[in-house]
Amino acid sequence: MPLVSPRVQALSPYAPGLSADAIREKYGVANVVKLASNENPLGASPLALAEISRHASGVFLYPRGGNPDLIQAIASAYNAPLERVVAANGSDEIIDLLIRVLAEPDRHNVLCFDPCFAIYPIQAKIAGVETRRALLKSDFSFNTEALLNLADKNTRLVFLTSPDNPSGYAAPAEALAEFARALALKAPDALLLIDEAYADFAPDEQAISLLRAGAYPENVGFLRTFSKSYGLAGLRCGFAILPENVADAIRRARLPFSLNVLAERAAIAALRDEAFRDATLKTVAAGRSYLKEALATLDCAVWPSSANFLMFEPPAAIDPDKLFANLLKRGVIIRPLKSYGMPRRFRVSVGTPRENEIFIAALAASLRE
Ligand SMILES: *Cc1c(COP(=O)(O)O)cnc(C)c1O
Repeated sequence: MPLVSPRVQALSPYAPGLSADAIREKYGVANVVKLASNENPLGASPLALAEISRHASGVFLYPRGGNPDLIQAIASAYNAPLERVVAANGSDEIIDLLIRVLAEPDRHNVLCFDPCFAIYPIQAKIAGVETRRALLKSDFSFNTEALLNLADKNTRLVFLTSPDNPSGYAAPAEALAEFARALALKAPDALLLIDEAYADFAPDEQAISLLRAGAYPENVGFLRTFSKSYGLAGLRCGFAILPENVADAIRRARLPFSLNVLAERAAIAALRDEAFRDATLKTVAAGRSYLKEALATLDCAVWPSSANFLMFEPPAAIDPDKLFANLLKRGVIIRPLKSYGMPRRFRVSVGTPRENEIFIAALAASLRE
């Protein structure tokens, strides 16, 4: 019998949000509201959809090596030099590649917070690289001192998500720059990778994004995605702005055609579709305020969020598993945070005004059950 590497054998896979189809089948509900994976409430950009149709007949051709049109479009949209931009099959692929090109198995380490986006420690484990984790503060703000205490000469990568998933907390840009400078002294070979997947949803993006601020220390890289505000989660396209030598390493290590032709065309169109993005950001800002108030009215604890989701906790008398099952029965899918080590908390994505209202009505009924 073939043997699997022990580190993969011991792996718990990433627990994704439940799919709408699965719930439709299981509970026989016709209308499912999925607020579990922070997808775009308005769907996909109409310009991106038109481009997908226009290029559909070209799918028999391989993509152009290096996806130069997309790299060019990202570089101009984010005011970054071409040499620093990489794109891949979702930012998940870039996370995986960064670990593999920066860290040696059984020798180097990567740092992240606990809790954090689950992909970082999972991919590190597959790569055979040690993950060291510092607890967030009790209000979910970043304990950068604790993170710094874990860093040493063998630290190659530090993951930090801002706004954070699953809490929604965002750190001031200046605090992140300060942390980057302190890290450079303690771990001179480490990259601070700031995952800005949700940065454009922040009420003041300039104040929290070092990438948008334009000036940042040279040991910093940024991760962004087409999956959230650009509405292309299912096509899989993410990008990063990295120090030039790291970007070069990613380009050499990436599988040549991992970013497909339709994702590339759609992403270029989504970057151009400012009307769609403005509408998305407005819908999310308004929905976030509505949900925050409505959750508080239902006696749930809600944490401040700069992202397109909210973390909340139902009143102490409520059984969280029963609550989740009662919501599913009503066709509403949210994200339990059990796999993040928080069995009483949930994350709900901001939907359309109608989806938000359906969720709140279903939650009110489920809390009474
Ligand atoms: C959703 C998300 C991403 C995006 O991942 P893709 O692979 O680009 O879809 C990246 N980082 C965090 C923290 C996320 O929540």
